[in-house]
Amino acid sequence: MHIQENLQYIKSTLPDHVTLVAVSKTKPVSDLMEAYNAGQRIFGENKIQEMVDKHETMPKDIEWHMIGHVQSNKVKYMASFVSLIHGVDNFKLLEEINKQAKKHNRIINCLLQIKIASEDSKFGMTSNEASEIIQSEAFSKLKNIKIVGVMGMATFTEDKDQIKKEFTLLKTIFDDLKLIKSCNFKPETISMGMSGDYQLAIDCGSTMVRVGSSIFGERNYN
Ligand SMILES: *Cc1c(COP(=O)(O)O)cnc(C)c1O
Repeated sequence: MHIQENLQYIKSTLPDHVTLVAVSKTKPVSDLMEAYNAGQRIFGENKIQEMVDKHETMPKDIEWHMIGHVQSNKVKYMASFVSLIHGVDNFKLLEEINKQAKKHNRIINCLLQIKIASEDSKFGMTSNEASEIIQSEAFSKLKNIKIVGVMGMATFTEDKDQIKKEFTLLKTIFDDLKLIKSCNFKPETISMGMSGDYQLAIDCGSTMVRVGSSIFGERNYN
């Protein structure tokens, strides 16, 4: 794989206001280091243990993003270093992240995962649930977390019109949520778009794209 070339190409296509998360799940540290040596500092993983292991062996100026589904009982393993948790989809999880962040005297940034896909398999909350959480008093008391935006995954389909509809929906939800005022809600990030659809996502308002296989090649899950 030509990781450095892939990375440079993708970066050259991104507008300045869009952040690239290099999704490195299942890939060996040597692959991540190629990207690191080409200047990449933000990596996304979907398994906490794998992220912890990579964090331990790699340079400490990397920002680690947890992009996968998070189990409450594993938050403690990443609480000392994770820089953004994309997949927060319930209030109990926010409470646990707050509790673990507090132990490390940190504020952990989170995105609320909104369900925009039509498939049942995708995690996420409705826009109403998100808005209720952000407006709740219980949330305003969680001083060691900050919600900095939303994350969504489009339906796995070739139908570009449907994907576009779902991305546009997430942008609309973000714009609505933005009107809510709360001390630990600082909406600035819309995390949407992967290898196959990140250009479309940017056209629809994405500010953060999560790109894996277009940088590191196809994943091998064996
Ligand atoms: C794996 C993954 C990606 C990257 O997918 P590619 O199609 O390889 O770019 C993005 N977001 C999430 C949540 C993922 O799990």
